[in-house]
Amino acid sequence: MIDEKKLEILTESAKYDVSCSSSGSKRANTPGGLGNASFGGICHSFTPDGRCISLLKILMSNECIYDCEYCPNRRSADVPRARLTPDEICELTVNFYKRNYIEGLFLSSAVFDSPDKTMELLCETILKLRKLYRFNGYIHLKGIPHADGALMMKAARLADRMSYNIELPSEKSLKLLAPQKSRQSLIMPMMSLKEAMDYDRVNKVRKNKVLPAGQTTQMIIGASPESDGQILKLTEALYRRMNLKRVYYSSYIPVVKSDKLPAAGAGLLREHRLYQADWLIRFYGFDVDEICGEDENLSPDYDPKCAWALKNMQLFPVEINSAPLETLLRVPGIGARGAYKICEARKFASLDFDNLAKMRIVLKRAKHFITCKGKFYGSDSFAQVKTSLMLEGTNERAEQLSMFSERSVSLSALTGEL
Ligand code: SF4
Repeated sequence: MIDEKKLEILTESAKYDVSCSSSGSKRANTPGGLGNASFGGICHSFTPDGRCISLLKILMSNECIYDCEYCPNRRSADVPRARLTPDEICELTVNFYKRNYIEGLFLSSAVFDSPDKTMELLCETILKLRKLYRFNGYIHLKGIPHADGALMMKAARLADRMSYNIELPSEKSLKLLAPQKSRQSLIMPMMSLKEAMDYDRVNKVRKNKVLPAGQTTQMIIGASPESDGQILKLTEALYRRMNLKRVYYSSYIPVVKSDKLPAAGAGLLREHRLYQADWLIRFYGFDVDEICGEDENLSPDYDPKCAWALKNMQLFPVEINSAPLETLLRVPGIGARGAYKICEARKFASLDFDNLAKMRIVLKRAKHFITCKGKFYGSDSFAQVKTSLMLEGTNERAEQLSMFSERSVSLSALTGEL
């Protein structure tokens, strides 16, 4: 029986880590096994502010030998400490899974004893889960910086996804706020994992593949002075060089008092804007330089695609029946799915505004930037366009995406479909 108090401490301590989306895994069950990362159980479930649910998210221990300034678990913090054994974590995971409380496991840990010792015990836990308990459910494991590379690779063949947190957007901030970590200690393991995944892909490895759901990372936003432009530059480089599945942004929350940290948090709107910009880089063909200058921040008033369009009004309006896909993707109110639908539908007939409405194109925004069969229903006044886009965005300033309220239906476009 696991002490409830321990459980409370270790789940509470894990809550600031946001890099745990469970998408992308294809691990199937085996005869007589338990769990399946391919179907049903591993769904993309998010709390209203975008955090993933349905995984047991827990630390093995919150005892840490490091002293990262922003972290409530750091060595010098006066907080209750606890540690679970690999067997306790396995028992907990399997029991929760059988009761249908969870779909998988997100396992992390503070660095106790030494990086190698911590990684060794994390590795032992997931090895037991896979081999002894025959657990085929989704496992996301947090990598421990400075731990031995062989341990990391062993874990990578057992877990579905791993993440090494990049923590802060620059080496300088890392030195100031997390001096025991270095950019190198975070980048090198990511690079090794990428190379191992590339090797498996090229050689068509089927069994015990390295990280079938890839790797992710997390950055803390607002604990250090980097601009959104710098953050997005780093993001772009990480996607390009490490082939990451996701970069997660965690808005800094001042839970720790320190002279080196700002008194106020970064706020969820900044985090939300970064996710929107991230989406534009990955799915809409935008370069960071188009979205945000190196020393600039994203506009709080407009989503980054609207902000870009307002700066480039000379490129609009575009004719919906002839504009190439990459141009449609840049029209505010036309999301990626919408742009593909338009390209398919116009092969058969010319489209008008009614057709677009049926495709759920957000015409309130798009009408200022498009013509349909030569007709334009937007405003000729730049000031009016700006005002209407800003008014439309006022709802998103009030709250972030929610999967529980009615309003979420109309807001669901804000991140996924821009
Ligand atoms: S290593 Fe991790 S747990 Fe330890 S103080 Fe730094 S951020 Fe916190």
